[in-house]
Amino acid sequence: MGWAIALHGGAGDIPLSLPVERRLPREETLRRCLTLGIAALKDNHPPLDVVELVVCELENCPHFNAGRGSVLTTIGTVEMEASIMEGNTKNCGAVSGLSTVVNPISLARLVMEKTPHIYLAFDGAETFAREQGVITKDASHFITPETIERLTQAKAVNRVQIDYTQPAVEELSENCDSQIGTVGCVAVDGNGNLAAATSTGGLVNKMVGRIGDTPIIGAGTYANSFCAVSATGKGEAIVRATTGRDVAALMEYKGLSLKDATDYVVENAPKGTTGLVAVSANGEVAMPFNTTGMFRACAKEDGTSEIAIWSSVQNVDELLR
Ligand code: ASP
Repeated sequence: MGWAIALHGGAGDIPLSLPVERRLPREETLRRCLTLGIAALKDNHPPLDVVELVVCELENCPHFNAGRGSVLTTIGTVEMEASIMEGNTKNCGAVSGLSTVVNPISLARLVMEKTPHIYLAFDGAETFAREQGVITKDASHFITPETIERLTQAKAVNRVQIDYTQPAVEELSENCDSQIGTVGCVAVDGNGNLAAATSTGGLVNKMVGRIGDTPIIGAGTYANSFCAVSATGKGEAIVRATTGRDVAALMEYKGLSLKDATDYVVENAPKGTTGLVAVSANGEVAMPFNTTGMFRACAKEDGTSEIAIWSSVQNVDELLR
């Protein structure tokens, strides 16, 4: 037993040659968010507050594909989505199709706490945001030079593309889904209370109205009394696999450890599609992925911690040495 926290900034085909100017700001944000989450857990904040706090911070960072850094739809608009879940109560909330809400994860929590529903989307979600008085900004706030560039690149090769690679157009094939990005956080306190939160802008050049795994409870986000899971990767694959719920079900019905359950789910997902962070009620952490890399960080009460992008032999700290 003991508290634990894990967070991610997206999984995908993150090239080992990722330029240092793209890698360092993300790594620094992961470190800052991890420190923030650890402090909140040590201060006995409930895990639900901790995951919301950390994901808000990640949403405010333009280097990740969520909130301010959300990628663009095929017509150059932003449609953000998020969900949050508490393990013991199984209370949850989700939002999609947001174009003006600064912190979609907080609106998802308000859906959970202030409505009789679980999931609001598009106009209804925007109207609810105004009723609740959450911070909103003109849609142009979310459209950055970087996200415009990514949309231009995706359109040049006519594909629905994900975050992170440096597309040399001539190197990209029509079928190569190389980039993925999203943010998420899971946390457990010393009493085994669990929570999960995930937020994203989705896929670059996605169709208007497309909904991915992130706001789908049981796919991109899930928590019960056994574990909390936040997934990232190719949303369509994660929805088909019900990734988050599968991890919990393997633990609950088959008695698997968190490590075995998460390894099983990720190994059985189509290669290059899935990554996740998860914590169990007794303070274990797992962060497997079957993509080239996943921006991730974790810490446990016993003092162990990690910040990494690629597999353990190529992690950020080693690269920095
Ligand atoms: N899973 C997200 C989606 O498909 C993308 C990501 O994880 O970056 O919308």
